[in-house]
Amino acid sequence: MNPLEPDRATRSEWADQVLATTDAFIAGLSDAPASNLPTADHWRDWLDEAPPEDGTALPDLLARIGVAASRAVETAGPGYLAYFPAGGLYSSVLGETLAQTLNRFTGVVGMAPELVAMEHGLLRWFGRQFGLPSDAGGVVTTGASVATLTALHTARESRLRWPDESATMYVTAQTHHCVAKAARITGFTADQIRTVPMDGELRMDIDAAEAMIARDRRAGRRPFWIVGTAGSTSTGTIDPLSAVGELARREGLWFHVDAAYGGGFILTERGREALSGIETADSIVFDPHKSMFLPYGTGVLLVRDRQELVAAHSADGDYLQDLLDDPEIPDFSDLGPELTRASRGLRMWLPLHLHGVDRFRSELDEKLDLARWAYEELSADPNLEVLLRPDLTVLVVRARAGEDATRLMFEEVNATGRIFVSSTQVDGVFTIRLCVLSHRTHRDRVEEAVAIVRDAGDRTKVAVALD
Ligand SMILES: *Cc1c(COP(=O)(O)O)cnc(C)c1O
Repeated sequence: MNPLEPDRATRSEWADQVLATTDAFIAGLSDAPASNLPTADHWRDWLDEAPPEDGTALPDLLARIGVAASRAVETAGPGYLAYFPAGGLYSSVLGETLAQTLNRFTGVVGMAPELVAMEHGLLRWFGRQFGLPSDAGGVVTTGASVATLTALHTARESRLRWPDESATMYVTAQTHHCVAKAARITGFTADQIRTVPMDGELRMDIDAAEAMIARDRRAGRRPFWIVGTAGSTSTGTIDPLSAVGELARREGLWFHVDAAYGGGFILTERGREALSGIETADSIVFDPHKSMFLPYGTGVLLVRDRQELVAAHSADGDYLQDLLDDPEIPDFSDLGPELTRASRGLRMWLPLHLHGVDRFRSELDEKLDLARWAYEELSADPNLEVLLRPDLTVLVVRARAGEDATRLMFEEVNATGRIFVSSTQVDGVFTIRLCVLSHRTHRDRVEEAVAIVRDAGDRTKVAVALD
C-alpha cells in the first residue's frame, strides 16, 4: 500500500483528497474562529509520536493534520489582523507545487539555466521597482531574518577587515530584532550596536544619528552600517529614508533598509511616495510573505552592487567543475549561504504573471484605504486614542481610560473570535495593534473590526469605572 512512486490513478486519488481538504479549508475561512488555540495540552501527544512501520491511508492523515492546523491562530483568514497578515495566495501555492514537483536544482545556474534566469529576472524587476541600478542583484530567502543576516555579512565583508571590534552599527529602538540577531550571529558584540534616539513619531532622529556617529569616530570607532526601517513591526512607521540615505553617503556607511513589511507597497503610488529614499539603499530586504500576500517562507534580499554579494559568498568545490559559469546570471549559491534549493522564484513568478501587477497594486491600495478609514473611525471615538496616523496599514490604539482598560479591551476584542489582533508597547505602555494586510481582508471585516474595537472600548470604560 502507498508506494513511493504512485501510479496515475493513485496520484489523482491523493491529489483529489488533498484538494478536498484544502478546498474545505478555504471555503471555511470566513466563518472560522479567528483564533482557536488548544486549551488542553493536545500538542503533547505529538511530541512522543513515531511514524508507523506500515503506511496509513491518506484521508486519515489529512484528518489529523486538519485538526492540528485548526487548533491555532487562523493566520490565513480575513479576521487575522495581528503581526503581519498574509493570507497565502492560492496561485503561489500552485507555483510552489510546480517547483516541488519539477524539483529543479537552482543553486547553480548550470543545472536549470532558464529557471535560474527567471528568478534573476524577477529580482531585477523588484530592483527596478525600488529604483536600484541595473547591476543590483539579489537572492530569494526564506524570510527577512535570513535576508538581513545575508545583508549584514555582505556589508561586513565589503566594508571591514574582520574581526573589527571598533566597528559600530546604528539602529533605533524600533528596528526589528532580526538585526540584533544577525549582528550576534556574524560576531558583533552588543556594544557595537548603537541605538539612535527617535522623534515624537518614532522615526530615527537624523541629527542625533549624526552626532552619535561623530562621537564614535572621535572615540576611535569605525561606524559602518545604518538601518532605516520602511514600516516598523510595532507601529508600521517609516524612517526618513532619504535623510538616512544622505547621512549614510556623507559618512561612508552602508545603508540597509528593512522593508520586510513595507516593501510590497512600492507597487502603489502612495507607497512609492512613502518609501522615497529607498533607492539610495545599499541593501534592501522585503518579505513577499507580508505585503505581497504569499504563504510564509519567502523573503528577498536586494543588494545595490551584486558583486558585493558574490564577493561575500562565492565558494567552489571540485565536484562542481562541470557547471556553466555565466557572469550575467550568477549561481544563487554564490549569493547566499545555501547550495541546494528548489526554484524559489516560481511561487512569486506565477502569481505576478497570472494576476498581473495591477491586481497587486489595487489590492494594496485597498489595504491602505481600509487602514485610513479605520484610523478615522477609531480616532473619532471618544473612548479611544489612536496614537499615530498610519504610514501604511498598522494602527496602534489605546483606551483613554488607561492601561488596564486597554488590556481588558484587548482580551475582549480577541474573545469575539471574529478578529485576532496583537499588542505592543509604545513608550513603555501596553497598546493594541491592528494590521490590515491579508488579501482576504476586505471592507466588511474591517467594518466589523472597527465595531468590535469601539464596542470593547465602550464596555471596558464602564468596567474600569466600576472597579
Ligand atoms: C517580519 C519582519 C522581519 C523579520 O522577517 P521574517 O520574515 O519573519 O524573518 C524583519 N523586519 C521587519 C520590519 C519585519 O516586520
